[in-house]
Amino acid sequence: MHAPKAVIIGGSMGGLFAGNLLHRAGWDVTLLEKAATPLTSRGTGIVTHPGLREVMRLAGAQFENRLGIEISRRLAFDARGHILSEVQLPQNFTSWSRLLQILLEAFPADRYHLSSGVVRIEDGDAQQAAQVHLHDGRVLQADLVVAADGNRSEARRQLFHAPPMRYAGYVAWRGLVHREALSTLACELVGENFAFSQIPGEQIVGYPVLGADHQNTIHVNFVWYRRTSAEALRDILTDAQGRYHPDGIAPHLLRPEVLQQARQAAHAQLHPVWAEIVDKSPDLIVQTILDGVTDTMGTQRVALLGDAAFVARPHVGQGVTKAAGDALALVQALQESGQQVPQALAEYSRVRVPVGYKAVTMAQQLGAVINLPDPGMAQWATHFADPYNLIMETAVEINGVAHTVLS
Ligand SMILES: Cc1cc2nc3c(=O)[nH]c(=O)nc-3n(C[C@H](O)[C@H](O)[C@H](O)COP(=O)(O)OP(=O)(O)OC[C@H]3O[C@@H](n4cnc5c(N)ncnc54)[C@H](O)[C@@H]3O)c2cc1C
Repeated sequence: MHAPKAVIIGGSMGGLFAGNLLHRAGWDVTLLEKAATPLTSRGTGIVTHPGLREVMRLAGAQFENRLGIEISRRLAFDARGHILSEVQLPQNFTSWSRLLQILLEAFPADRYHLSSGVVRIEDGDAQQAAQVHLHDGRVLQADLVVAADGNRSEARRQLFHAPPMRYAGYVAWRGLVHREALSTLACELVGENFAFSQIPGEQIVGYPVLGADHQNTIHVNFVWYRRTSAEALRDILTDAQGRYHPDGIAPHLLRPEVLQQARQAAHAQLHPVWAEIVDKSPDLIVQTILDGVTDTMGTQRVALLGDAAFVARPHVGQGVTKAAGDALALVQALQESGQQVPQALAEYSRVRVPVGYKAVTMAQQLGAVINLPDPGMAQWATHFADPYNLIMETAVEINGVAHTVLS
């Protein structure tokens, strides 16, 4: 008997978790990534959770002793450097590039296809295979299509009646800098801790991570949330040629004056160690903060997974863990249904939709302190204005997101 065929759209975290788990479960997997060159520096730091590491093991990823760096202290300080709150909360921090590299190593290279953008998907039914149409005219038949094509998912737009992703009213500036390039004070405050500062309309967090290089260089990662009007966002996403990039602007296309404004604001508003970290980060990434929900994650033979289904703001630190948990839940549902795909996808959707809503809701609560919250969220803005609540509840594991049982 032939192995059932799975086509995965998207070669980032979600696609690789699904690809590795399906491959190990005996599926014939083809992974399609639209980018022409290998994905490398898309993101910065990633908070890992025990559940994420468990799914990585199940996916065949070899990462013991090289995933990330252990940090035990969280602290919040104000613009003058006064420590406002401090707790012990050990966690392992890695970088986006390192995690992607580990997942790529586990996946058969001849099954991973760059320059393979998908333009149209037909979802098939219990009898008919799904069809995946590529930009170059190729058409692939599949028993299962996994749409791990991110927050601008074509599959979501074409096949799911999900609402459009919604702008949360603020952006995140992100960057990475070699820890050894930082001053002693910046290392003490941010280079050794999970550090937090906030002022009205802004919040910045930073922590050390392992870079993707073989020397295990330690970098310091920051995520700086800034309330930003829709007009100001449009300006940030417009390059020097006047082209607007609504889906996100590549770091090298950010206009010099936009970068300069951000760096000046860091000096004017934040503690000098944050300004130093922002200044010394060679590339700044700007991420539009979005909320994305859907009431279904499966239709016939097409599964939505990761950010294509739900986008939870980064405060909860669940982006990668959620994609991993979706992939694990999908493979389990397929196994339990005897590979009856439409039936398995109904079960997958039933299990994962509530998890997606939970992550998005918790992220909105955490974010309420940054944007101007609607009245329903005002209590959360007050709750997270308290530095102790902020450092205790940001980026901690949320039960169920990784789809593994936590001890
Ligand atoms: C700018 C940015 C920075 C981020 N930085 C961080 C970070 O530092 N830390 C963190 O924890 N999380 C970060 N995230 C979130 C995190 O990357 C995701 O939550 C996580 O990777 C799960 O995403 P995914 O694999 O579902 O989708 P994505 O990572 O968005 O990947 C989707 C993939 O699908 C591909 N694709 C899209 N359309 C098609 C198509 N039609 N055909 C073929 N391929 C297609 C894309 O090229 C992309 O590689 C960031 C997100 C963004 C947008």
